[in-house]
Amino acid sequence: MDVENKEVQEMYECFCNDCNKELIVNKNIDIKSCIYCKSKNIEKRELTKKIPKAHQIPFKISKKDALIIYEKQCRKAIFKSSIFLSKTTTQELIGVYVPFYLYSCECNGIVEFECIKSTKWKTGSYKYEKVDKYLVTRGGNMSLENIPIDTTKNFKDIIDLISPYDYSKIEEANTTLITSSAIVPNKMTNDEILKESVGKAKVCFMEEMKKSDLNYKEITPIKNSINIYNSKMSCILLPIYVLNIKYKNKLYPFYINGQTGKVFGNIPFSISKLIIIWIVLLIIIFILSSLIYFGVMS
Ligand SMILES: [Zn+2]
Repeated sequence: MDVENKEVQEMYECFCNDCNKELIVNKNIDIKSCIYCKSKNIEKRELTKKIPKAHQIPFKISKKDALIIYEKQCRKAIFKSSIFLSKTTTQELIGVYVPFYLYSCECNGIVEFECIKSTKWKTGSYKYEKVDKYLVTRGGNMSLENIPIDTTKNFKDIIDLISPYDYSKIEEANTTLITSSAIVPNKMTNDEILKESVGKAKVCFMEEMKKSDLNYKEITPIKNSINIYNSKMSCILLPIYVLNIKYKNKLYPFYINGQTGKVFGNIPFSISKLIIIWIVLLIIIFILSSLIYFGVMS
């Protein structure tokens, strides 16, 4: 899939002048405010970014069902502002594909750790601590699979909140399906993606070596020699529904897993609604007390 594709040409870039973030959107979808910060200071530009060659997990939850899930979540909050269920708010819910790169490789190597053991004791009013330092070397080889790399630099935490995804349902990317939704663009070049992937693989390798029988108080890696080979990288588009709501100058984002329907979002209390309910309760209590009092008196 590339920019020359006719369906891809039907897309435009929506750039926010306030948060400097972008979204690639199909021309059928009219974006009125930035999905990240709700600013109306957005610009619609010609598509310049390449849509990554990818696999995808298709949306299994329809937009209609996503709205039902959102409304159900809203109804759990009793003292909420009506803005959260208004049509103007809910119609801004949008299906977005988020690209994640999955990196797999084989590793072998050795890691040197500085390890510390300490022993404490007390004699009379004196406290003693003996610190022993060790130089420990561990080595081995291992396969690492599907290390996720967030090339959007913005969605890692969000995806964590609504995970898991069922990766067995990965399909070849269907351009028509992709272009009927929005896509978050990559923010990294291929070199940057590769550098980050290799870095993460080395960290994973060192963490595994650290777990191998190192029973010390402190363990610090000081030197490593790690070889990476047979590396593979694939891009996968993860489906997510996004609805960002601005209420009293604060953002309340909602995210729904487009495959499973798992939802994340918080709805704040409406102070004015709480006050009204308290006033109504006080009036009822006053009326009931008066009735009881006058009933007893007569
Ligand atoms: Zn923005």
